[in-house]
Amino acid sequence: MSERTPAEFHPETVAAAYGVASDTAFGAVAPPLYLSSTYEFAGFDAPRAYDYGRVGNPTRDLVAEAIARLEGGAGAVMTPSGMAALDLLIGRLPVGSLVVAPHDCYGGTMRLLKARAELGQIRLALVNQSDMEVFGQQLRDHPALVLIETPSNPLLRVVDIAALSTLARNAGARVAVDNTFLSPALQQPLSLGADYVLHSTTKFPTPFDVIAGAVIAADPEEAKKLKHWANVTGAIASPFDSWLTLRGLRTLFARMAGQERNAMAVAERLRGHRAVARVHYPGLADHPDHVLASRQQTGFGAMMSFELVGGIPAVQRFVGVVRGFTLAESLGGVESLVAHPATMTHADMGPEARANAGISDGLLRLSVGLEHIDDLLAGLEVGLQAAESLSEVA
Ligand code: PLP
Repeated sequence: MSERTPAEFHPETVAAAYGVASDTAFGAVAPPLYLSSTYEFAGFDAPRAYDYGRVGNPTRDLVAEAIARLEGGAGAVMTPSGMAALDLLIGRLPVGSLVVAPHDCYGGTMRLLKARAELGQIRLALVNQSDMEVFGQQLRDHPALVLIETPSNPLLRVVDIAALSTLARNAGARVAVDNTFLSPALQQPLSLGADYVLHSTTKFPTPFDVIAGAVIAADPEEAKKLKHWANVTGAIASPFDSWLTLRGLRTLFARMAGQERNAMAVAERLRGHRAVARVHYPGLADHPDHVLASRQQTGFGAMMSFELVGGIPAVQRFVGVVRGFTLAESLGGVESLVAHPATMTHADMGPEARANAGISDGLLRLSVGLEHIDDLLAGLEVGLQAAESLSEVA
């Protein structure tokens, strides 16, 4: 840990300043980017702090330390993507371990877990984690790992991390929380009893120019084992991606605050609109998980989804004309995006699993950025009017 960001410093300070002015060679204020794949030994059998870039890299280690500190963890590993972060964790489970995951998780997460299960490497149970009874029953089968995604992608369902972690721990399971939708700026699952946090740092930490991920462990021994496993498997983020991620973290809290402000205004506008059947944003007081979200999160974030009254035809009209929201996958950046989960992020889940999770064909997901709110609302209105005119015709 850098002496310049002592333990009592606030998370905002860690994000803005971790590792700043720590360069001993030239006094560079911005931490240097170390691209070298290998390091000179001091002499025979005398490696320095670093010997080979897969084992460790100063830039990657710096951002991993910053993220671990933001999540309140003992250590972190930076991986080449969010999916690689999950796979790093899964890869260390003994063959045949039971993994309990949400039935409504990110489509790529489900694809990875199902693929590992089909290969016989894990057993998989997909459950509705809002239903404590169903969850409790599943724990009787002694899972090794419980994966939680809250708020969930794309329906923004919020589950009780502390309650689920206590139950899982009592059943001998470890708990990993995918914190991608909120980032450490708005939720710290380790403080609620989780063992690991997963991130697609592709999202909020870095505004749309990096694919990377992170696993953070609460326990120092676990953190060491994960780092070792990343070296064994080669699942390491590149130095440049790590450097960009650290640069992104500098502004994380400020971006989050601005994006959340815009998101609240967008959600309120959507809620009152005739073209919209339902809005999923836990920041709205009438959202079923509003009270829980208010308790376990320090903000509601910039992600939401909503259902158009007119189904697929209305979706087509909306995305064809909406302004200010680019039709694209991914989320968390400073530019607003719209995605259609059924044909994009959650297409691989298949219609049955989507229906089971409650992901309808008329559902659109928004990632709200930092544009001026008046421009966003005006652009949204263009799309909503097109969708509404269709429901009127129908
Ligand atoms: N977890 C969640 C909640 C996601 O939304 C995503 C990607 O959209 C991932 C994990 C995977 O991250 P990556 O695309 O960096 O592999």
